[in-house]
Order: sequence, then structure tokens, then C-alpha cells
Amino acid sequence: MFLCSKCRERLSYSDNPSTRDGAVCEICGNLLEHVDEYFGMFKEEAGQYDFSTFLIGMKVPKDSLTRDIEAIEKSGVKTRNYKEEFQFQLGSRIERELPYRVDFGKPEFTFTIDQENMDYSVWVKPIYLKGRYLKKRRGIPQSPWIKPGRGKEMEKSVSEYIGQPVCDALGGRNYNFFASGREDVDALMLGTGRPFYVEVKSPRKRSTDLSALSGQVLGGSRDGIEVIDLSIADPSVIEGMKGQKPDKTYEVGLTVDGAGVVKIAEKLEKYSDLMISQRTPTRVLGIRKDKVRERIVRSVEIKQFADSKLVLIIRAEAGTYIKEFVTGDKGRTIPNLRDELDINVKIDYLNVLEVK
Ligand SMILES: [Zn+2]
Repeated sequence: MFLCSKCRERLSYSDNPSTRDGAVCEICGNLLEHVDEYFGMFKEEAGQYDFSTFLIGMKVPKDSLTRDIEAIEKSGVKTRNYKEEFQFQLGSRIERELPYRVDFGKPEFTFTIDQENMDYSVWVKPIYLKGRYLKKRRGIPQSPWIKPGRGKEMEKSVSEYIGQPVCDALGGRNYNFFASGREDVDALMLGTGRPFYVEVKSPRKRSTDLSALSGQVLGGSRDGIEVIDLSIADPSVIEGMKGQKPDKTYEVGLTVDGAGVVKIAEKLEKYSDLMISQRTPTRVLGIRKDKVRERIVRSVEIKQFADSKLVLIIRAEAGTYIKEFVTGDKGRTIPNLRDELDINVKIDYLNVLEVK
């Protein structure tokens, strides 16, 4: 069996090496002779990213590794197999000469060598940026919106207004946007804003000027979207956010008329942690399954009431359809304000004030 000098050394072979020119090591396929070249490739790739911890991954042909393990057993020496030896050689050279340290648990940068294809691939740990957003202009959908037959809407979505500048600032390849619930396209998101995060894939940078980024989002959306409380977040914090179902507080502007108008305040008193039953609203029937959901309305208060213009502050459990709670949606939401108060209502606007 022909072995390269590195494998001979590793296995403590003392007989004279054969010196066939161009011969390929029958164990490591001459991989161990190429640590320098892979170091060069690593260095070039690594230079494009901002990270501090790394790991060398290896894909090697199974039969080469089996041959090696058998040879190690036969030789009786205690040594690393050639895959481990290569990872060790390359890894320690990187640690010696470059400003990175190996991390076997959660590396930020993984450089994986595929011996069979004589190729490598790079994986960079995603980065998460979290914050809260305010939507100050109506008509902005939360996610890219495609209307049948009309193509993509002209107005960009909250996810694009925030996600793209975040992704660009961190030099990412692409991104995912996630928010804690959503407001309707025609509703504003005010007050303390709605929690969100952006996952940036393959980021070249792991930090950025967050106040400059806020400015870019505001400018890019022509003052439609403002982001506050931005921070780089740990994935564990993000996991926690996913499960949260925070209560929401809404401001609803209504025009009302009808018999019950004078008694509104009195009749609203019962809405203190009251369970309501909502069948999927007619306006979303095409995209959501038709079923009955039960939700709790925490409170309904009058903010202003003059000349048939009523402004209510409604606090309700996550997932409550507020418009339908007001209008009744032809009896699909029970109880609802329209029937209970015996009034006609027209919704003038809906704003979300708080998500927590
Ligand atoms: Zn070898």
C-alpha cells in the first residue's frame, strides 16, 4: 500500500517509503499534503466575513476512513485518523495565524471541505436583529402582498421596508421577517410599536450602527415605518418571541347612530374579560379556514364621544378580530357592539396602540 509521508509518520511506518512520482496516498488521497492550500482558501473566504469563532467540517469517502482505521489498529499506534489529523492541522494553523478561535459547539463560521469533490462550502451563522415598529401611514401591508390579477401592490410591505435595509446593513444574502401578530393594511400601528425580528442569512457583518439603520428605515419608507429599540438578539430570545401571544390595545374611530347611543357607556361595562365567539370573518374567508374562535375582550373604554363620533379604546386577546367585534360581521361575531348597543356603526379608522 502506498502511503504519503504524512500518513507514514502518523502510523509510524518505518520501512522505506516508495518514491513513485505522482502516486496518490491510498489512505488520505494526499489530502494531508494540502493543508496549506486549504488554509489559503479559508483565509480568503474568512476575510469577507466578520466573525470570531469557526469550525472545520469534513466530508471524506467512507472507505478511505475505514482503510485508515484498520491501518491504525494494525499499526498499534495511538493516533488521529486522517480526517481528524487534517482538521487538527488546519484548525491549529488558523488559530495560530489568524484572529479566530475554534468552537465545536456554536461556531459563527463553518468551513466544510468535501474531499471527494475537492471543494469546500461556507456556512455563516445567521444574525438576528430585534425591535419594535410603528406604522404611521395607512395602506402598508405587513408582508409582500399579491392581489389576484393585479400582481404585486405598488406599496412595499413592512417586512420589506425593515428587512431589506437591515439585511443590507449586515451584508446578508437574504432575510426573514417575523412580527408578533399583524395589523390590517388600513390600520396604523402606534404607541409603543409591535415587536419584530429580522433573521439575516450569511451576514458579512455581525454589528452595525443601529441608529443609522433606524434612519434608513424611516427615510426608505417615506416616514411610513419607524423602528425603535433595535438590538442584536440572541437566538434564544427569538425563540421566546415566537411563542408569545401578547394582548393588543386598539383605538377605533366610529360614526354611530341609533336607539342605544345614549346608553353606550353603561352598556360597555360588561366588557371586562368577556369571552366572545368569532367565526372567521367574511373578508378573510378566502384565505383562512372557516371556524369559530373564542377570544377574550379585556376592556372597552370611551376615549371621546361627540356628535355621533365615538372613539373607543379596546383591549383584547391576541387574534381577536376587532372590526368584526364592532360590526358583528352579520352575526358571525357574538356578542358584538353593533347588536348589543342597538346602533348602526361605521368604522372610520383603526389604530393599534400597544402590543404586550
Ligand atoms: Zn496520506
